[in-house]
Amino acid sequence: MPQRSTIDPREKQLNVPKRHKVAIFREQGGPITIEDADVVHDLPRGQALVRVIYSGVCHTDLHANLGDWPVPNKLPLIGGHEGAGVVVKLGEGADQHVKIGDRVGIKWINSSCGDCVYCRKSHEPNCVKAECSGFSVDGSFQQYAVADAKSLTPIPAALSLETAAPLLCAGVTVYKACRQANFTPGDTVVIVGSGGGLGHLATQYASYMGARVIGIDTGADKKALSAKCGAEVFIDFNQSKDLIADIKAATPDGLGPQAAIVAASGAKAYEQALEYLRPRGTLVPVGLPPNATIKADVFWTVFKSLSIVASYVGNRQEAIEALDIAARGKINVVSRTLGLTDLPEVYKQMHNGQIAGRIVLDIDR
Ligand code: NAD
Ligand code: ZN
Repeated sequence: MPQRSTIDPREKQLNVPKRHKVAIFREQGGPITIEDADVVHDLPRGQALVRVIYSGVCHTDLHANLGDWPVPNKLPLIGGHEGAGVVVKLGEGADQHVKIGDRVGIKWINSSCGDCVYCRKSHEPNCVKAECSGFSVDGSFQQYAVADAKSLTPIPAALSLETAAPLLCAGVTVYKACRQANFTPGDTVVIVGSGGGLGHLATQYASYMGARVIGIDTGADKKALSAKCGAEVFIDFNQSKDLIADIKAATPDGLGPQAAIVAASGAKAYEQALEYLRPRGTLVPVGLPPNATIKADVFWTVFKSLSIVASYVGNRQEAIEALDIAARGKINVVSRTLGLTDLPEVYKQMHNGQIAGRIVLDIDR
């Protein structure tokens, strides 16, 4: 079944007002306030102004608000990096990449230099001059956002902007993670955090690539969502008395899964992952809980020939591929839509682990 295709009437409104609504915080851990602000009209070379209509809320946005990571973010900060909208204004030279009215997505990588050794090898996320939306530059929790035109992701006609939004970080990130996980069709793959924003999509992309998925998360909602997304087995990490034994027992030969993609927001998720992998298995760290470490026992890591392949978002091409798979009806984004003014409440629920799937914000509400 192809995804529902809806053109939002707002996609045709291409005028640029002087003022707009933004969700902003001024200090680490400080409150999110909804304010009126000037729209940026003077666009630097190569930049485009995007009228953001929907934005997903990623746990990364909450980590940024709380100052969870060892890298400082811009302050004050307008967060958000799953923005879906239309191009309404172009800086000089931006017309080489997009035109007015194009449906586009703003990703975590807001811009990359294009010239460094990493960009030349298409590892744009590792660009030495990369700017990150909703972190080092203002992001998509505002009605009009500035972004590097060449880094915008075209949104296929078959996807509504509302459906596309969560794919712009969660989707591309887990698509890339699945590609790095060294599994082949028929292998068992554990998705840790399978009921979350990233996890529910990871379960589907991994299944699409032929994996048999074991989902790990907690609670009835996330169990039901994991099953809906294709997980053959669900293990509740709060109920299991022996997670390693339970995961191994859920694999057909009892030897453990071929890969574990950790898309969880809690540090505990990393504690046992290397222990339940089968020999020659791959751990793919994706989730970025604060103060987390991966402890690898040297003997067993070598003896079992394990790999740890960390995965950080995706490049421009991977974003196009992740959206294309969804546009062909292979991925079902499970989300609930609220308004920009609900963001503080969304962060509360996210912090308490109460959100199954993704929350998408209608930026005008
Ligand atoms: P989310 O809150 O929607 O989902 C996280 C899920 O993890 C929740 O369902 C939660 O119940 C589950 N969880 C927590 N502890 C767990 C445990 N011990 N075992 C199993 N499940 C557990 O968050 P999200 O938006 O999906 O983001 C998840 C993480 O991924 C965040 O840390 C975020 O910053 C990170 N992230 C990384 C990248 C990257 O490029 N590497 C990109 C986007 C997000
Ligand atoms: Zn994200």
